[in-house]
Amino acid sequence: MKIIVAVKRVVDYNVKVHVKTDGSGVDIANAKKSMNPFDEIAVEEAVRLKESGLASEVIAVSIGVAQCQDTLRTALAMGADRAILVQTDAEVQPLAVAKLLKALCEKEEPFIVLVGKQAIDDDSNQTGQMLAALMNWPQATFASKVEIEDNTARVSREIDGGIETVEISLPAVITADLRLNQPRYATLPNIMKAKKKPLEIVTPESLGVDISSRLKTLRVAEPPKRATGVKVNDVADLVAKLKEKLKGTGVMVWPV
Ligand code: AMP
Repeated sequence: MKIIVAVKRVVDYNVKVHVKTDGSGVDIANAKKSMNPFDEIAVEEAVRLKESGLASEVIAVSIGVAQCQDTLRTALAMGADRAILVQTDAEVQPLAVAKLLKALCEKEEPFIVLVGKQAIDDDSNQTGQMLAALMNWPQATFASKVEIEDNTARVSREIDGGIETVEISLPAVITADLRLNQPRYATLPNIMKAKKKPLEIVTPESLGVDISSRLKTLRVAEPPKRATGVKVNDVADLVAKLKEKLKGTGVMVWPV
């Protein structure tokens, strides 16, 4: 009863990134990196499932540069049992990540794969769904509550106007939303223990996966700057200002 949990190393959510002057991307070279916040929630859920006796082992997986080992050590300090780094310096897009996770699923045979609902750097929200499609497994996305019973998971998810609860058979892919849990902080003793937990390093080639990009970024631009606002004294003033602004456009302001 293994759980695979995917953890991505991303620019820390507190860092404000800037577009490179040549418009080829954002400059993240020296920015602080951390575990994707939704992945911290996914790790917490996996560890809680293990603590409640519903899972036997939690395997944290990260795909990316050698420094992703730090992210994996954080997952190990939170309670994961072992870690796998699929090491590459290449840009890895969601489809390639899903293919790599598929290769690991075929090897490890987990009953649940937990991923974040989205990575805060690319905001793709694709990996979990693509993995479920590639594995031909059920998926429950944006989970805010997970209950496991026998061979099924009952997952609550926030939708417009309420909570939807779906029941899926396992093995399955579950993506973690913000309100699923409050991730624990790694304590110093657990950080020390995590240094001794197994961390295996493999490559996309050794897993037989082609990670070449399918998308090409043409240009990245800063969002347009917001114009400064105008203060109005009261509703009458607001209407007068709107009328003035819309003069000659044919748009009517009510009351006229
Ligand atoms: P995305 O589809 O890029 O928004 O990512 C959704 C989730 O997939 C993330 O929250 C992670 O759990 C997982 N994921 C995406 N990229 C990686 C990666 N390079 N390494 C590990 N997990 C990843």
